[in-house]
Amino acid sequence: MRTAMVVGAGVAGPVAAIALQRAGFAPTVFEAREGAADELGAFLTLQVNGIDALRALGVGHLVTGLGFPTPRMRFRSGSGKALGEVSTGAPLPDGTIGVTLRRSDLYRALRDEARKLGIPIEHGRRFADARPQAGGVRAEFTDGSTASADVLVGADGIRSRVRHVIDPSAAPARYVPVLNIGGYAPPQETGAVPGEYEMVFDKRAFFGYAVAPDGGVWWFANPPQCTEPAPGELAALTTEHWRDRLRALFAGDRTPACAIIDSTPGELVGWATHDLPSVRRWHRDRMIVIGDAAHATSPASGQGASMAIEDAVELGRCLRDLPEPAAAFAAYERLRRARVEQVVASGARSSSSKAAGPVGRVLRDAFLPIVLRRQGAAVAAWLHGHHIDWDTPVTTSVPAGHG
Ligand SMILES: Cc1cc2nc3c(=O)[nH]c(=O)nc-3n(C[C@H](O)[C@H](O)[C@H](O)COP(=O)(O)OP(=O)(O)OC[C@H]3O[C@@H](n4cnc5c(N)ncnc54)[C@H](O)[C@@H]3O)c2cc1C
Repeated sequence: MRTAMVVGAGVAGPVAAIALQRAGFAPTVFEAREGAADELGAFLTLQVNGIDALRALGVGHLVTGLGFPTPRMRFRSGSGKALGEVSTGAPLPDGTIGVTLRRSDLYRALRDEARKLGIPIEHGRRFADARPQAGGVRAEFTDGSTASADVLVGADGIRSRVRHVIDPSAAPARYVPVLNIGGYAPPQETGAVPGEYEMVFDKRAFFGYAVAPDGGVWWFANPPQCTEPAPGELAALTTEHWRDRLRALFAGDRTPACAIIDSTPGELVGWATHDLPSVRRWHRDRMIVIGDAAHATSPASGQGASMAIEDAVELGRCLRDLPEPAAAFAAYERLRRARVEQVVASGARSSSSKAAGPVGRVLRDAFLPIVLRRQGAAVAAWLHGHHIDWDTPVTTSVPAGHG
């Protein structure tokens, strides 16, 4: 039986391991963290295309009951002016729509499923290097241990070590000029329709929130910051600092932002935003990167997890049908590159619009309603209507973007 090493047990890693097992491989997952992590980023949206891709592997049920359905996003200015709304994608045939869920719940569900299927996940194994060996690849870990397999899949996130090993000259992640912070506030009156995102382009920062079925408010804010924070700078900021800073940003606007932030219990921790516009080399020899390791998008796209899942499923199909890894990786890249790069570009545009200056704000508020009206449905169909048919064979001549 062919073997695979999967580096990283975030989103792409466990799904790739499940796909590879279905494709006839014996996969092992190597995760740097010692145990269940307190994953950065409190919650995320998993769009219908991501759920549909999980279903291609027969594991769509994993996200049922996690989080809550979020069918729509409404955009407003800080003065309360409605700028438009978009749906988060047409429902799947059984009515399923995109969900908002805690990042840690998604990670846990995917890892538990992989373990249930008998896939080993080895924690505390930080990948360091790899080199080709006869008919395969040999990986080295920072603890000095090694492992070998027929192929190595780097699903090790935006700061991927596997990407560096494949191409030491690969460009590093790019700073996107907004910070992220968020939390969970207790039930309160916000005026929002439960489950629907309210997205506010406030004068000084972006604020988004959705009311969960229990009435609790899941929120995030994106304070703009032109320069990339120095290492450790954000970690050193206290919760009191964040409360004061956010209060100052949203003071006097016509949204419930300040009340939501003030009522949020516990620690507030901010983090910087990065993306990866174009990674020149995704594969070399028997190694390939997928998910954020290959094409991280800024959170504004709401598609990072869904793209990671699509990647994992497509890689499984390619390695199932094209026994020669070089041919499978080339077919995979043809299937994926244009789509993911378009998502990264659109995420970067959305993030920049959150950090607009005075003139940019006027233009954005004038044109956003038109853009949302004109492009909303077409974008939703292209992005959210994407379907992967696991059973359709992949050939060496698969055209770009088609399964
Ligand atoms: C604030 C924020 C909000 C977001 N919001 C959304 C959203 O709403 N919707 C959405 O779809 N996406 C969102 N994303 C993006 C989404 O979280 C990522 O796109 C997704 O997690 C990518 O999955 P991945 O498996 O490629 O990488 P990750 O989830 O980052 O997993 C990588 C794993 O590899 C491990 N690892 C790293 N280095 C090594 C090594 N050397 N050896 C072994 N293991 C290693 C890490 O510990 C980690 O477990 C958001 C991201 C952020 C930061």
